[in-house]
Amino acid sequence: MAKPSGPECNLNCDYCFYLEKNNFLEELRPLHMSDEVLEAYVSKYISSQKSSEIHFVWQGGEPLVSGIEFYERVIELQRKYRGDKTIFNSIQTNGTLLNTKWCEFLKSNNILIGISLDGPSFIHDKYRKNRNNEGTHSKVVKAIELLNKYKIEFNVLCCVTKFSSKHGREIYEYFRNLDVKHVQFTPIVERIPGISSEKLNLKHAIPSESEQLDFTEHTVIPELYGQFLIDVFDEWISNDVGKIFISNIESILPSWLGLENTMCIYSEKCGRSLVIEKNGDVYSCDHFVYPEYRLGNILDHEISDLMKKSKSCGFVDMKQGNLPVVCLTCRYLNICNGECPKNRITQGSNNIENLNYLCAGYKMFYKHIGRYMKAMAKLIANGMPASRVMELSEGPIVVVSR
Ligand code: SF4
Ligand code: SF4
Repeated sequence: MAKPSGPECNLNCDYCFYLEKNNFLEELRPLHMSDEVLEAYVSKYISSQKSSEIHFVWQGGEPLVSGIEFYERVIELQRKYRGDKTIFNSIQTNGTLLNTKWCEFLKSNNILIGISLDGPSFIHDKYRKNRNNEGTHSKVVKAIELLNKYKIEFNVLCCVTKFSSKHGREIYEYFRNLDVKHVQFTPIVERIPGISSEKLNLKHAIPSESEQLDFTEHTVIPELYGQFLIDVFDEWISNDVGKIFISNIESILPSWLGLENTMCIYSEKCGRSLVIEKNGDVYSCDHFVYPEYRLGNILDHEISDLMKKSKSCGFVDMKQGNLPVVCLTCRYLNICNGECPKNRITQGSNNIENLNYLCAGYKMFYKHIGRYMKAMAKLIANGMPASRVMELSEGPIVVVSR
């Protein structure tokens, strides 16, 4: 994942954990990734991949503030270095800068868009605001209309806060009415800064801060997040399997088929998604862009060396290495893998060292969906469409094993 404009953004969303990185990454100025860093990144990333398909993910901050010219140069460099490999690009944006010119560029280069939308305006506008403290919902909806008009493929990234977690069904129905086909829900879990993060002038605690710190007001309550996922799941399983794709569900289905989950938070190990900042510095993960987790700079290292460093410094194995006994003996371990280490916060009602803050909510969710996921896995294993699971509400499904 690349951050061509680093934490720079035209908005000022209340819960953003990335905006404030400018406070300590002073060396990240000037504003955008230089051509030297970009060329080193594109060439080294392509040559480091064995696969014939290569995916570039551009994120921020707000990656569109780098301008169309930057991405024209990206495409030029990818053509220069791709050889016989096929390149795919996706950009994760807040959507407010999208216009017809951008859409023409995105369409002609087959770029996938991820757009941040938290639900209807009374939910989205509560925290997703511009620099004048005004809500941005209407601009994002206009951007989605434009993407639909240009037939540009997009998915929605929806942050779930304490407030929005009570509106799971409403948010899901809202997306369905907007004709959204792919959604990912991301729970907000952040604490107020402790001594180390205050020194860096941050508004959110660094994950490694072990002292007892209050959660921010946006942070979801675990059981409410579990109920949110259940409400979304119930609506989806009744009507939309095979029509709407929800990453939080699709990415854990492999564990019922004896395969590896696809989203990093549910997989066994971390470290497959390095992040490159605009000055070329590389980190093990988007959630660990702090000085103590810097792996090196792309101008000085090959990507394979940075991957090795991510492993040798303990980041890759941290996820499995510090699982508490309660996870190791949990019936859902192969689905959950203790979720993201960033959320393993020992405090408050969660007094078990390294147990994930969201555990109680996840247990509710996994218990609720088990019967359906098992049925979908059986359908898939027998060459039938998973969407037949929707017949479960009418009675048992007969699957003739192959
Ligand atoms: S720390 Fe969390 S977000 Fe980062 S790679 Fe690991 S599971 Fe994924
Ligand atoms: S559900 Fe809870 S106990 Fe089970 S693996 Fe996940 S975090 Fe650990």
